[in-house]
Amino acid sequence: MRVAIIGSGPAGFYAAEALLKRTDALVHVDMFERLPTPFGLVRGGVAPDHQSIKAVSRVFEKTAARPTFRFIGNVCLGKDVTVDELRQHYHQIVYATGNEDDRRLGIPGEGITRCTPMTVFIGWYNGHPDYRQAKIDLSVSRVAVVGNGNVALDAARILLRAPGELEKTDISGHALEALRNSKVKEVFLIGRRGPNQATFTPPELIEFGEMADLDLIVESNLFSDSVIPETEDKTQQKIVKLLNAFSQRETGAKEKKLHFRFLVSPTEVIAGADGAVAGLKLEKNRLETGPDGTVAVRGTGEIEVLPVGMVLPAIGYAAQPIPGVPYDEKAMVIANENGRVVDPVTRTAIPNEYVVGWARSGPRGQIGAHKGASARVVELMIADGARLETRELPERDAIVAVLAGRNVNSLSFSDWKRLDEVEVMRGARRGAPRDKIVDVEAMLKVLAPS
Ligand code: NAP
Repeated sequence: MRVAIIGSGPAGFYAAEALLKRTDALVHVDMFERLPTPFGLVRGGVAPDHQSIKAVSRVFEKTAARPTFRFIGNVCLGKDVTVDELRQHYHQIVYATGNEDDRRLGIPGEGITRCTPMTVFIGWYNGHPDYRQAKIDLSVSRVAVVGNGNVALDAARILLRAPGELEKTDISGHALEALRNSKVKEVFLIGRRGPNQATFTPPELIEFGEMADLDLIVESNLFSDSVIPETEDKTQQKIVKLLNAFSQRETGAKEKKLHFRFLVSPTEVIAGADGAVAGLKLEKNRLETGPDGTVAVRGTGEIEVLPVGMVLPAIGYAAQPIPGVPYDEKAMVIANENGRVVDPVTRTAIPNEYVVGWARSGPRGQIGAHKGASARVVELMIADGARLETRELPERDAIVAVLAGRNVNSLSFSDWKRLDEVEVMRGARRGAPRDKIVDVEAMLKVLAPS
């Protein structure tokens, strides 16, 4: 069986691994990636000060070394090659394109200068080529990060961490320079619900407790007024315990501050005279538990304006639609039933097309959780494949010839390994694991025959 996987992030590599490890089927996998570099979220999303999470790319390299695997980088589906063409060259297609768009707050003022989508901010500090020229103005002293998940914590940590520590990571050179000159001293994490509903994970919270030069500020009346009901959930209990401990710490002595604000919803991003963010209007909420146990928020009408110079919404992501691939507008993912791509209206399966990772599930689950999820989709693929008549396909190399005929400069995994070597060498100069090349043209120049 010949399979095209679109996207080289974790979910795509986990699907490739599950396909290539099969003993009951011989599968050839071609993995298409729009950038010259592989690993998707691991390279472009995971925070640079979380290098241990990035170590998973070593597992992906083992998959890439299999003789039945081929990386076809610098090729964009919908631009350099169409879905219909892939349908002709492969028995099955797996979309592993992740979530490259942001969900919107949908409030007035969203989108003004210094109200920056999270994909832009994270892409900028991670050296993603799409965001290398983003204007991130760190001349302000106070920033609001909206959301109570791990992405909000990542953004807050990068803004508050000492640049000397970031220097030893693979943060992009331009972000490192900007953070060295940053005037940001205070970050406000804005949660619309309470600590029991926060989706932080405890290790990520503990990290803040260990950061030098950082005051952690949690309203202590949250705990004394028993605003937080008892919960059976062990993780939530841990989160509340950590926040309670933070609330009892001495504050005031440190140069930087992280404020945890709960039960407030942004209602407007306020512009100053220069048109850029000057404040964030917040409405106080109360919680209402429904008969099914879900906890919703109700606005109380009580408003405050938080004087901040930047707003970073970290409220979740959405899959980008791909031309020719069914899209579920409501769920903001590729339309699917358990990983089988379906027509979004009739819900009937599109034969031989599958989706894994965040493009399937939405932005949920840590990287490792998608290993099992991708493997389950592979089970469906194998079951479906066994029932299909074997379809004659063009030669395996024909797709590469099609691309070359269009002057598409497709790249191999060994091309990436050469880039990797150059980046690692550059990084060694500042004691970092790598210093990323952030511009596709510059990458191609490194690879051009001399
Ligand atoms: P998330 O955990 O779903 O958090 C999204 C947050 O946005 C929630 O607090 C949500 O509040 C809030 N929100 C949504 N709409 C809002 C609105 N209109 N106004 C105010 N707040 C709103 O998602 P995430 O932080 O983007 O993370 C995505 C996934 O990646 C998660 O599985 C996460 O654990 C993982 N991740 C892991 C790491 C790590 O391991 N270090 C790092 C980054 C990300 P409600 O709950 O009220 O909806």
